[in-house]
Amino acid sequence: MALRKIRIDDDPLLRMVSKKVKEVTPRIKVLVEDMFETMYKEQGVGLAAPQIGILKRIAVIDLYDDNKFVLINPIILETEGEQTGIEGCLSFPGRVGDVTRPNSVKVEATNLDGERYIIEGEGLLARALCHEIDHLDGIVFIEKAENLHDDDDINDDEDIDDNEDDDVDEF
Ligand SMILES: [Zn+2]
Repeated sequence: MALRKIRIDDDPLLRMVSKKVKEVTPRIKVLVEDMFETMYKEQGVGLAAPQIGILKRIAVIDLYDDNKFVLINPIILETEGEQTGIEGCLSFPGRVGDVTRPNSVKVEATNLDGERYIIEGEGLLARALCHEIDHLDGIVFIEKAENLHDDDDINDDEDIDDNEDDDVDEF
């Protein structure tokens, strides 16, 4: 396993559409392991392959609730409702904004065994799924965010004691 470098800000790869994965090869499995390792190191809850410079339709999600999701060639089948909440992205360090997403989504994806499966997510999981699938289409959250600002502002405004880490989830 190896840590990968996260592409940030104006990196053109973040704005490109990723290609479908044809087969879950051993190389893809190593890539997925590296993505989890890199995501944990950066304390994110999701990571998409283009964020580490690989234009393949692969994303990982772990909301630290004992569920790890590997999403290869994910597609959104259904969405329902709406939620607006503060969001951050590992590719835009220190930036946060309000993003409106579906409140629940139904996604079909391939797992590491090469099988298609269905994930139904609500709330934060729905947000993470949409954020990652956007990455695979070259869409970054700052295009959708309102009230985009530095996350230091939040800590100044709220009296959270000794809170050095930001509270905002990064994907
Ligand atoms: Zn992101």
